[in-house]
Amino acid sequence: MTYKRKDGRKLDELRPISAKVGVIPNADGSAIFQSGKTIAIAAVYGPRKMHPQHQQDPTKGKLRCTYNMMSFSVTDRIRPGINRRSTEISKITEWALDPVLMLENYPNKVVDVFINIIQADAGTRCAGINAAAMALAHAGIPMKNIVTSVSAGKMDKTLVLDLDKYEDSEFKEGEGSTDIPITMTPDGKITHFQLDGKISAKQLNEIIDMAQKACKEIYEIQKKALKDSIEEKQ
Ligand code: ADP
Repeated sequence: MTYKRKDGRKLDELRPISAKVGVIPNADGSAIFQSGKTIAIAAVYGPRKMHPQHQQDPTKGKLRCTYNMMSFSVTDRIRPGINRRSTEISKITEWALDPVLMLENYPNKVVDVFINIIQADAGTRCAGINAAAMALAHAGIPMKNIVTSVSAGKMDKTLVLDLDKYEDSEFKEGEGSTDIPITMTPDGKITHFQLDGKISAKQLNEIIDMAQKACKEIYEIQKKALKDSIEEKQ
């Protein structure tokens, strides 16, 4: 039996997306990215002097990401502050973005990216990465490319794109379930990949193909948001 999605989406269909840059005037760059009911806002500050000083790198600037889920972002209030999950996602976000950044000309400096999840309905790390990539470009940070992130899952034998929270919970309970967030450049270079569970090489290739197609769609939305902001300024 093929898996029927509760919201009526096709197996390889994204949730409705909206994106906008320049949403926080005081930041050097900012963006909001919404996928279904998941909303992420990213604000970029810098390049500015790295503090604490012992973390300064005289050979290049550093990217520092801080991912945070607002206490009101889920139905049951989350205790505010850093936790194990947010620390992990902050690191992963840095690794996903770092390969496209060109920070060689900013020794001893840091580029701070603050990602806040205003509303969470699964896929928050991907939404955060998408918002952060747009905010970095909006801040004028030199980049080789932008990155785009999406999550795909496997429920037994069925592959599904961009899970929402309902599906994510259902998948986690199902046997052989897997959720795979992937981040890539528009030309298909993968900068981030997380696999929690088991998957065959064949299905993995199918997942990557599905994610690649989806990332192309998301990339167009990111690009349009950046272009719109330039046109608004003129
Ligand atoms: P992602 O948000 O990237 O999908 P997870 O798989 O860790 O990452 O989380 C899945 C979803 O579970 C989140 O998007 C959110 O909707 C929900 N969630 C995560 N942590 C909590 C929490 N502490 N309380 C309530 N819901 C949470």
